[in-house]
Amino acid sequence: MSSLIKPLLNRITMGNYAKSEPTHYLQVALPTPLRRVFDYLPPKSGIDFLRPGIRLKVPFGPRKLIGILIAITAKTDIPLANLKRVEQVLDEQPIIPKDILELCRWVAHYYHYSLGETLGTATPTALRQGRPVAQQTRKLWRLTYPNAEAPSHIARNAKLQLAAWQLLKQHLKGLHEPMLKSLGVSNQTLSALEKKGEAECIYENLPTLHTMPQSILHEAPLTLNPEQAHVVQQILQTAQQFQVFLLQGITGSGKTEVYLQLIEQTLKAGRQALVLIPEIGLTPQTLHRFEQRFAVPIAVIHSGLNDNERYLAWQKAVDYRVGIIIGTRSAVFTPLAKPGLIIIDEEHDASYKQQDSLRYSARDIAIYRARQANIPIVLGSATPSLESVHNAQTHRYRHLHLSQRAGQAKPPSIELLNIRGETLQAGLSPALQQKITQHLEKGQQVLIFINRRGYAPTLLCHECGWVADCPDCDAHLTIHRQPPHLHCHHCDYQQSIPVRCGHCNTASLFPVGAGTERIEDFLLSQFDPIPIIRIDRDSTRGKTRLQELFSDIHQGKPAILVGTQMLAKGHHFPKVTLVAILDADSGLFSTDFRGLERLGQLVTQVAGRAGRGKLAGEVIIQTHHPESPVLNRLVTEGYEVFAKTLLAEREKLSLPPYSYLGLFRVECKNQEEGERLLLQLRELISQFLQYNNLNGPLGVTLLGPLPAPMEKRQSWYRWQLLISSPSRQPLHTAITFAIHQLEGGTQAMIKLARKVRWSVDIDPQDMM
Ligand code: ADP
Ligand code: ZN
Ligand code: ZN
Repeated sequence: MSSLIKPLLNRITMGNYAKSEPTHYLQVALPTPLRRVFDYLPPKSGIDFLRPGIRLKVPFGPRKLIGILIAITAKTDIPLANLKRVEQVLDEQPIIPKDILELCRWVAHYYHYSLGETLGTATPTALRQGRPVAQQTRKLWRLTYPNAEAPSHIARNAKLQLAAWQLLKQHLKGLHEPMLKSLGVSNQTLSALEKKGEAECIYENLPTLHTMPQSILHEAPLTLNPEQAHVVQQILQTAQQFQVFLLQGITGSGKTEVYLQLIEQTLKAGRQALVLIPEIGLTPQTLHRFEQRFAVPIAVIHSGLNDNERYLAWQKAVDYRVGIIIGTRSAVFTPLAKPGLIIIDEEHDASYKQQDSLRYSARDIAIYRARQANIPIVLGSATPSLESVHNAQTHRYRHLHLSQRAGQAKPPSIELLNIRGETLQAGLSPALQQKITQHLEKGQQVLIFINRRGYAPTLLCHECGWVADCPDCDAHLTIHRQPPHLHCHHCDYQQSIPVRCGHCNTASLFPVGAGTERIEDFLLSQFDPIPIIRIDRDSTRGKTRLQELFSDIHQGKPAILVGTQMLAKGHHFPKVTLVAILDADSGLFSTDFRGLERLGQLVTQVAGRAGRGKLAGEVIIQTHHPESPVLNRLVTEGYEVFAKTLLAEREKLSLPPYSYLGLFRVECKNQEEGERLLLQLRELISQFLQYNNLNGPLGVTLLGPLPAPMEKRQSWYRWQLLISSPSRQPLHTAITFAIHQLEGGTQAMIKLARKVRWSVDIDPQDMM
């Protein structure tokens, strides 16, 4: 059809059918918590140039919102009279790439979350706020009339402008703005030249990897040992298609070296690698290793970036200006121009699961992305999650092993130390204290692990048994000495340390138990002048503090390190030969069904810090239950056998990974409202299940409502309803139904649901 006739026809059709139904509707995702998309009429200009992924400004109640166009449809359930028209089209090209939009639709669907807010989590704010998409450009300045012998519009006394003109005359191809600045030419001078027509500014695109010099490596790779070489070869064989690899390798077995060499091959093939690292693992140490190896630019994405920085990193990844994207959880949403490989380091790590708002698992989303892009993904860990071990056993994942330490390091020996009836000082038994002395005398370092910061976990009255509790949570206040105060680790409530009991008013308050500060105090008094280096969240405030502490450790002089989780991951301390775990028993008696799995992972990871250099390592686990079969299995047969034992247990009890879980959580100010809401919801779900034949042991089972393990937090009462099923489909059907009831059921239900805060957690990791 000729371009002249088309508008004419349009006008005729408009004229004839002006009052009839429109033929197209726009589905728009908006930043609201509601789990649905919203239909709008297309703008007056029509739909010809509209693509999913562009931003639209739309009326929403009394407000205007910026949303993302999801789809153009021929149908709507909304009565015509209620439909509003899109007010403004903000982009010509989609700002969200097609695959990321598709990914977000899946994520919103799977986690039962608002698509608009999913896009909000996945994409940088700057992108969505209606700011124009920033170009990755740099400014090149050059003379407007390169052949001129002298400037014609610059006054003789404008010395700076004349100098700048002369400079540009010497560089007829132009100079980049940063270079001009370092040569002393100010922006002011440049814009004066521009105004007078003497110089012009060209916006040049930054180079992409296409146009970059072809050197990929800064330094040569290590020669792989046979095990590593086998693993690399196995993965490269499937380099062009989707496959999940579970790379189980003990700490120090050279997993990182395997990643580096896989990435090298990916880069050589002209593709990008996305590397996810746990929250604590993303240290300058790790980054340094990547930067030393690779000459290609790397984008780093973590929660410490501001939105603009995240936005720039995102752009660099889409524009193929970086070859490697390395980051924590949220980096999983980074678009890739040329996806080639995804790596999840320490895949079992809890920080991959977001614990509020969109409760996603970055590991699981990464697997979806690998499938979507048809590329391999490597899940690496010394202590893989039971879910992943199960997937490897059932051949959904390919299981690869690294069983020996790379280089000269030997695996440490592990001993369970019976502390029943022993007198502990700050949590340390006499036998352990002796061991510490022995290692220090040999000029080595010792690491003491305790998962509790502060001075002591409880302040107790010796007269009446009163304990200092948080007024807003179901939790004791932790005593801190540096500086002295009581602190709630769940809501951040703080107060000064009382002298007298809050109940009987006598002055007989005692700290009970030991945290890192108290152990530090004790060790100082016992091992003076050996330095004690405490590493926990309190001692590492300030950007460079942790690095300072690490460099103290790396000096290699005899020292005792005392620390929490922060010491358990990724770090390499060659002089540490003794590792002590003070309190393994709390993991043995956890109420969470994942308690033992976590204990096994922690013990193995912490033990992995010992003897990473040339010296042999020794690990001591203090316990009141040295005969515990699980602990013994872990110590004598290793994590893999331990994991298999736990899996057999889970299967008997139909717990994940042999079933799937969804958790409705409710928080309320008025204690009984949460219970009432969940009771009613449970009743409705039961009827629904019965009606659809989805009840019974093979269908969906409901547990609750029950108060959460921590019943009150930050003065909110917390209730839970657990939904479980041996297969995913009925679980999600039941959850979809339940959400419909909460968002659009009876008036009474909607009203009650609005009084509380409720959320759904799919594949919950933490039942707290
Ligand atoms: P992991 O990531 O499994 O803990 P790393 O890759 O960090 O293991 O390797 C542990 C140590 O062994 C590092 O110091 C590393 O440089 C060294 N290493 C790894 N692979 C080799 C190899 N093939 N030859 C020599 N040293 C190696
Ligand atoms: Zn509190
Ligand atoms: Zn008292």
